[in-house]
Amino acid sequence: MNAQTAAGATATPFLAELQTLEQCRERIDRAWPLMTELYPVCRSITGAGVRMTLERVAAGIPLEITEVPSGTPVFDWEVPREWNIRGAWIDDENGRRIVDLRDHTLHVMSYSTPVDAVMTLDELKPHLHSIPEHPDWIPYRTSYYRENWGFCLSHRVLAGLRPGNYRVRIDSSLEPGSLTYGECVIPGTSSDEFLVFTHVCHPSLCNDNLTGIALASTLAAGIRASARPRLTYRFVFGPGTIGSIAWLARNESRVDRVRFGLVLGLAGDRGPMTFKRSRRGNADVDRIAEYVLRTAGTQGRVIDFSPYGYDERQLCSPGFNLPVGRLTRTPNNEYPEYHSSADNFDLIDRDALAESLAASARILRIAERNTRYVNLNPKCEPRLGKRGLYGATGGRHPGEFEHALLWILNQSDGSQSLLEIAEKSGLPFELIAAGADALLGAGLLRPENT
Ligand code: ZN
Repeated sequence: MNAQTAAGATATPFLAELQTLEQCRERIDRAWPLMTELYPVCRSITGAGVRMTLERVAAGIPLEITEVPSGTPVFDWEVPREWNIRGAWIDDENGRRIVDLRDHTLHVMSYSTPVDAVMTLDELKPHLHSIPEHPDWIPYRTSYYRENWGFCLSHRVLAGLRPGNYRVRIDSSLEPGSLTYGECVIPGTSSDEFLVFTHVCHPSLCNDNLTGIALASTLAAGIRASARPRLTYRFVFGPGTIGSIAWLARNESRVDRVRFGLVLGLAGDRGPMTFKRSRRGNADVDRIAEYVLRTAGTQGRVIDFSPYGYDERQLCSPGFNLPVGRLTRTPNNEYPEYHSSADNFDLIDRDALAESLAASARILRIAERNTRYVNLNPKCEPRLGKRGLYGATGGRHPGEFEHALLWILNQSDGSQSLLEIAEKSGLPFELIAAGADALLGAGLLRPENT
């Protein structure tokens, strides 16, 4: 009988299938259809696009859906009316279609109010947005909290418009409805939580949206396939800003359970990996992520918290100050394709996305295993040989494994975590964790809090 049948649960080690870059690359290839199917969906902060997106995510992992009604006060904000769109286009006076939402979801400014009018080019122009320095790209524009309408188009098309009358139609609705977010919770043996937040509100943008959804979905599926974790994992798929504000408003009484957190997004471009520290700057997740980036063998960088970016702005607002960092590659607004139609699949490097997956999985793995221990035989070194631990290493690095045992025994006075011991010793965290397992098995350690 194997361990699975005995316990009635899988005994697969935590995120075992996301250990190597090759394994992560294979998972990214498997997540690719999720991204390609979600790419054409016209998402916004509310409405059918978000629901459709969450439904597709829920095909891979169970999602608990929350609908927060329009008008609900959430701290200093209010859940907006629900926006839905059926079509949008501009025809010139010869009936030639200049712009059509069917061609690209970025063509209409998100939250555009309905329009059905004929107007001159001069009247129309204030509602047209383009990027002159990249004349073939369509910009991404929103107007969530100020009633307005607009079209986004390539500068080449805009520059070619002749004076005359234009027929403008936006078939949208802004009505009382709700804001939707989804959560996948994987209970651990502890109620301490690892929160992962990713936004689901951008239309056809790939790096800035779909990569975060792909990573979070893949991690959640991987944890669900593992043995029951120590930490409780909570994956939140919600609209940016107002989604995290609404989530915090509804979970205020329980956010003190969040011990670690990551905001995921912008994870597949070719830039180096970036970890943005939590507002605290010295939370466990900051230390873990810095270690992971430093030892990943790739160029990574760690930047300080700033109140600009994604949902870390809300999660790390002073009234919450949650230990939540952000893992991205090139930060928002720091690459030319950002918030434009050029943020498409051409921008994504599957290997880079796999590397982001490997890094985030390792952050979770270290958080899961990063305990402090107490040496139960602290007066002089215990004799490892008589316990079969000296020279019987079973690893590729026998010398290192014995070193790891000595480091753990020496440092485990209850004040040092395994990560701190890994940092001090220069030995890989995984080796230190394996050493701690061996010492636990020999009855030489106990967890600090027991
Ligand atoms: Zn964005």
